[in-house]
Amino acid sequence: MKQYDVIAVGTGSVMAVVEALIEENPRVKIAVIDKDEPGGICLTRGCIPSKILLYPADLVRTIQRAGLFGLDVELRAVDFAKVMDRMHSLVHKDIDQIRKGLSSSENIDYYHTPAEFTAPYTMRVEGKEIRASKILLGAGSEPTIPTIPGLAEAGYLTSDTILGIRKLPSRVAVIGGGYIAAEYGFFLAAMGAEVTILGRNPQFLPDEEPEISHVAKKHLEGGLRIETNHEVLDVTRKGNEKRLRARDRSTKKEATFVADEILVAAGRGPVAILHPERAGIKTDAAGWIVTDAYLATSQPNVWALGDATGKFPFKHKANYDAQVLYDNIVGGEKRKVDYHAVPHAVFTDPEVASVGLKEAEAVAQYGLENVLIGFYLYEDTARGEAMDLKDYFVKVLVERRGLAILGAHIVGPEASVLIQEVINLMYTPNRSADPIREGMHIHPALSEVVERACLSLMPPEHYHHTMEHALGLRAR
Ligand SMILES: Cc1cc2nc3c(=O)[nH]c(=O)nc-3n(C[C@H](O)[C@H](O)[C@H](O)COP(=O)(O)OP(=O)(O)OC[C@H]3O[C@@H](n4cnc5c(N)ncnc54)[C@H](O)[C@@H]3O)c2cc1C
Repeated sequence: MKQYDVIAVGTGSVMAVVEALIEENPRVKIAVIDKDEPGGICLTRGCIPSKILLYPADLVRTIQRAGLFGLDVELRAVDFAKVMDRMHSLVHKDIDQIRKGLSSSENIDYYHTPAEFTAPYTMRVEGKEIRASKILLGAGSEPTIPTIPGLAEAGYLTSDTILGIRKLPSRVAVIGGGYIAAEYGFFLAAMGAEVTILGRNPQFLPDEEPEISHVAKKHLEGGLRIETNHEVLDVTRKGNEKRLRARDRSTKKEATFVADEILVAAGRGPVAILHPERAGIKTDAAGWIVTDAYLATSQPNVWALGDATGKFPFKHKANYDAQVLYDNIVGGEKRKVDYHAVPHAVFTDPEVASVGLKEAEAVAQYGLENVLIGFYLYEDTARGEAMDLKDYFVKVLVERRGLAILGAHIVGPEASVLIQEVINLMYTPNRSADPIREGMHIHPALSEVVERACLSLMPPEHYHHTMEHALGLRAR
């Protein structure tokens, strides 16, 4: 049986630890295993390809709004195959480079094949067993496919397989109402498809604040249909047409949605083929690998990072885990993970970005009387007005005493960029919002929305009054 110093499963963020191990010990022998193209999901079928596709979708929406500003512009056609080809060529340039690096390294045996545990510290690859005294699990996650009668027979796409299409389907039903459903729904609609999103949760984008979700849904509905609280009961296929029978979970009313293609974006789960339980590695009820604060699993010298731990499935968090793991394995410093400010964004039009606690969590943890909320509309700044923006806003949660930032939620253009100012302060010792309140902000830039939200702090009850009036949710 071939023996290594280290086995690494995955070629995403875990590679940062692999590279650091090689730098620290140039004689180390590492087996790196990935069943798919190298680079990890973010590069091969996650963040990178989806954002390459979403950029032309944003341009389509910009062109469609041009008339508001007195510009007579017409989008004559979308060359869908070219949009897809551009994505493939950009992604494959990086994949090829990573493959070359892996194949030429003297320290690495690169296995492009699935791996499964057979016993503690032992994995089966290409029909043989290999062993190591240290194992790094950066196995990521895979799409969850709900058990809906007729779905498999009718055929469907996932966020993996959608990258393989070159012809835009005319009508698409998206099963799921989270960020992947939103992003691909928005993309396909902007390219010209008729899109219906069928989410099971009563709230579209269920991980966001309800008012953020409300505004995102309202604006996205300009280009696609969104049905929340809908359970897909079954799927039937007639020729090329797929019929999804769905039930409204509150009214129990049934409706049938007709599509040429179905995209399943109903969440992600652990990678089924790994079988960590055979290696004495504890998993939770959902099958995610259980790690302690140092990212160690229940089996000594086996660590896990990124999506595989089931916590905050975002690339920046996986990269952060890799840094912590490096310190814990070779850095000589034991470091705990700190997830108090893991941000995320939804790259639709409008963008959504969020970090830290939501209002209900902040109130539960700190008490209603100790939480203040800052709120400001984009349209009440000069730049927001120039851009003819409506409803978009910044919401900031702070602790009354000391104004420590607890969380922030933004819906509107550049939300993913604007929120960074808040995130950075959440990594300072007192996390105070004062630098935003006191620092000069360029006029008239969108960053003034964040500044003014931090300057207009109010108790939660007052916030609800103000926000609901501003968004037209309450009679003025
Ligand atoms: C459509 C989509 C869009 C996304 N957009 C964003 C975004 O905009 N921003 C963001 O932060 N995150 C985004 N993500 C999430 C992001 O891709 C993940 O958080 C990130 O890739 C996790 O990295 P990782 O290092 O944990 O593992 P990954 O990079 O996921 O790598 C895991 C690798 O291990 C391989 N593997 C797993 N098990 C085995 C096995 N048993 N044998 C062999 N190989 C195995 C997998 O094939 C995979 O290549 C997106 C994900 C998807 C699906």
